[in-house]
Amino acid sequence: MNLTKPYYHPEDNKRSSASVAYLHPVMDDRPNLRIFLETWAFRLELDGARAEGVHVRTKDGEELLVRARHEVVLCAGAVDSPRLLLHSGIGPRAQLEALGIPVAHDLPGVGENLLDHPESVIVWETNGPIPENSAMDSDAGLFVRRDPQQPGPDLMFHFYQIPFTDNPERLGYERPAYGVSMTPNIPKPRSRGRLYLTSADPSVKPALDFSYFTDEEDYDARTLVDGLRIARRIAASEPLAGWLKREVCPGPEIVGDAELSEYARKVAHTVYHPAGTCRMGAADDALAVVDPRLRVRGLSGIRVADASVFPAMPAVNPMIGVLMVGEKAVDLIGGESR
Ligand SMILES: Cc1cc2nc3c(=O)[nH]c(=O)nc-3n(C[C@H](O)[C@H](O)[C@H](O)COP(=O)(O)OP(=O)(O)OC[C@H]3O[C@@H](n4cnc5c(N)ncnc54)[C@H](O)[C@@H]3O)c2cc1C
Repeated sequence: MNLTKPYYHPEDNKRSSASVAYLHPVMDDRPNLRIFLETWAFRLELDGARAEGVHVRTKDGEELLVRARHEVVLCAGAVDSPRLLLHSGIGPRAQLEALGIPVAHDLPGVGENLLDHPESVIVWETNGPIPENSAMDSDAGLFVRRDPQQPGPDLMFHFYQIPFTDNPERLGYERPAYGVSMTPNIPKPRSRGRLYLTSADPSVKPALDFSYFTDEEDYDARTLVDGLRIARRIAASEPLAGWLKREVCPGPEIVGDAELSEYARKVAHTVYHPAGTCRMGAADDALAVVDPRLRVRGLSGIRVADASVFPAMPAVNPMIGVLMVGEKAVDLIGGESR
């Protein structure tokens, strides 16, 4: 790998995409690497239980079958990896049959176990403008371990140097001219959603039902209530307290568990961390889609390597875990005889 170009070094503190960090340095050196840009994969080619390739549509509208010499590695993310499997007849039999998609392999877990890091928001008006020295309006974060028995954090916050009132405004709150926000976030959510097809037409987007705050113990909503209270304690301490004029939302009059929970759930939003829809699991896990070597169960010649294989959410933001899955996939593919 060519590491001489400065923007490939993590040490320079510049954020780069997976493409810039992994692909760009080798793009010109690998005769066996061909990249099809703006090309959409819409179905896998199967020969019985073996994946042989993938059907794609190029940016010019041409449809091609790209054949795999060794195996197919699906890495279209937690939305499109399960979607591609489903459109190829790999998934829960009842869903496929209801849509008239011929069942190639009944795999009940495809699209189940949809995970995310939902978060809520608390906003303060500040005494004046915030210094414009922010890289991305959300430069600070905070991890909290409410339960000391837990091995890791069970509450996370982003700290925004803007009044992040997009969702609260729908409830009638106003955006102050200047403000800051904290976003209590559930690192280890217990609610589970699902992704499913509504049409056999691959160009129709799948349905995503995140089922936020539906866990029986109400753990997820309680995490946000605790988060709002902890955020208020932080805001009452210096040096932050001296910057703040007033709490805008939920507002100091909202103090009870039930009211805080209702507010927190109503203004909650995704942080774009979908995962889990092709989850990895042991042989006795009926909803596992891939085995511990990332191979799709019951098929040969196909692995999944992206956020969809996460069995549970990592407490931190997922990108680093996704890159680790990718690096592990390289080891597994390279390490197995062909
Ligand atoms: C706005 C935003 C901000 C985020 N910020 C952070 C952050 O700060 N830190 C962090 O850790 N995570 C962050 N995330 C989450 C992180 O980007 C994802 O968790 C991660 O990219 C998931 O990786 P993946 O490989 O599973 O999927 P993706 O990164 O989505 O990769 C899938 C790739 O497959 C391509 N693809 C999909 N479908 C098809 C198809 N049918 N045919 C051909 N190609 C296809 C897509 O174009 C994409 O290039 C953020 C996400 C968003 C949207």
